[in-house]
Amino acid sequence: MRDLDLREILDLDRAHVWHPYGPMPGRQEPLVVEEASGVRLRIAGVGDVVDGMSSWWSAIHGYNHPVLNEAARDQLGRMSHVMFGGLTHEPAVRLAKRLVDLTPAGLEHVFLSDSGSVSVEVAVKMCLQYWRSVGRPEKQRMLTWRGGYHGDTWQPMAVCDPQGGMHSLWQGVLPQQVFADLPPAGFDAYDDAYAEHLHDVIGRHAHELAGVIVEPVVQGAGGMRFHSPRYLRALREACDAHGVLLVFDEIATGFGRTGALFAADHAAVTPDVMCLGKSLTGGYLTMAATLCTPRVADGIARGEVPVLAHGPTFMGNPLAAAVASASIDLLLGQDWQTEVKRIETGLRAALAPAAELPYVRDVRVLGALGVVQLDHQVDMEAATRAAVGAGVWLRPFRDLIYTMPPFITGDDDVARIGRAVCAAARASGEARA
Ligand SMILES: *Cc1c(COP(=O)(O)O)cnc(C)c1O
Repeated sequence: MRDLDLREILDLDRAHVWHPYGPMPGRQEPLVVEEASGVRLRIAGVGDVVDGMSSWWSAIHGYNHPVLNEAARDQLGRMSHVMFGGLTHEPAVRLAKRLVDLTPAGLEHVFLSDSGSVSVEVAVKMCLQYWRSVGRPEKQRMLTWRGGYHGDTWQPMAVCDPQGGMHSLWQGVLPQQVFADLPPAGFDAYDDAYAEHLHDVIGRHAHELAGVIVEPVVQGAGGMRFHSPRYLRALREACDAHGVLLVFDEIATGFGRTGALFAADHAAVTPDVMCLGKSLTGGYLTMAATLCTPRVADGIARGEVPVLAHGPTFMGNPLAAAVASASIDLLLGQDWQTEVKRIETGLRAALAPAAELPYVRDVRVLGALGVVQLDHQVDMEAATRAAVGAGVWLRPFRDLIYTMPPFITGDDDVARIGRAVCAAARASGEARA
C-alpha cells in the first residue's frame, strides 16, 4: 500500500476521524506527526518541535527510548497478548509486585485494565461492592470535591466537576454524587475551616457514601489546581471516622510528576484504593491499574457474589506490562527527584515573565508541571500557532496554558518551553484585544 501524502491524511482525518473532545467533522486542522524521538515531535511541513505535554502526562522518558523499545521488542518476540482469564504470565506478575512495593504501604492487590477511565470504573465498583458485600448496600454514592477530573466513561464523568468540567451536558442523567467545595488553592496554603468542611460533609452523608474519590495534590484536567497535601490527611481521618472508603486517582500525578513518586507520599497517606495510568508505561502503550487494600478485597470476597465482575479483554496485556516494568526501572534507576527538581527550577524561571502580562491571572509550578492561567478562554488557534512558532508543542484548554515536559528535557529545552508558553499567552491575549 502506498503512503498517503499530507493533504490526503488531513482530508481523510477530517472526513472520518474523531479527535478528543472534538466535533465531527473537525474544525481546526490538526498537525500531522511523522515520528517522535527524545523530547521532539517531527511535524509534517513544520519540522521538529519540543513536546511540552509528554503526550498528556504519559511520555516521562521521551519518545523512541532505546530501553523501552528493547523491552517492547523482547516481549513481542515472546507474546504480545494472551487472555488473562485462567492464564497468567511473568510480565503482569512482575509489574503487579512492583506496584505493590512502590505505592503507599497497605495497597496489596492489583487490578490491571486498559485505560485510566476504566481503572476509575473499577475503583468505584470496588467501593460499592465492598459495602454491598458487608451488608450495607445503601452505601452507594461517591463524594468528591469540586474541580476534579476522573475520565470520560460513565462513573468517572459523574465525579468530574459538574459545572466547569467537560461533562456538564449530562447533569441529571449521570448518577448524582456528593460534592464538597473546591479545595483552597496552593500547595503551601492550608485552611482549617476547609478541613472541617470535609469532615462535616463526609459525616453528613456517611450513611449513603461508599467512598470519597479525589486527585491528590494536583487537580489536572479539571483546572490544573494545586492544594495542600494536609487535606489528604483530613480526608483519611474523616473517612476512617465515618466508615467511608478513600480512593486516590493518581493517574496524572503518579510516577514522580509532582516531585514525590506518588502525590499521596507528600502526605504519607494510604488510600483504600488507588488508580494509576498515563505514565505507567512511559507513554508507550495503554494500561492502567487499580490497587486496593486487603480489607477491600476481603470484604468483596465475603459477599453473596464473592468475585469482582470485571474482566477487560486486554487485561494484563503482556506487552504493556513489560514496557511498564521497564519504564519503572528506568525511572528508579536514575536520580529522578533531582531531574524533576531541575525542571521545576527551570520552569519557575522560564514562566516568571508570564506573570508580568496584563491578561495573566496566575502562574504556578509544582514538580515538572507549569501552569499559566489567563483571565480569558485561551484563543487556541493563536496560542498554538505562537507555541509551534517558538518550536514547542502545547495544548491549552479553557483559560490554561500549561506544560508537563518529559523528565529528560534538557535545560535549554525547558527554557524554550517557557518562552513558548509566554508567547502563547501573549498571542492569546492579543488575539482577544
Ligand atoms: C487522564 C485521567 C483520567 C482518565 O484516563 P484515560 O486513560 O484518559 O481514560 C482519569 N483521572 C485522571 C486524574 C486523569 O488525569
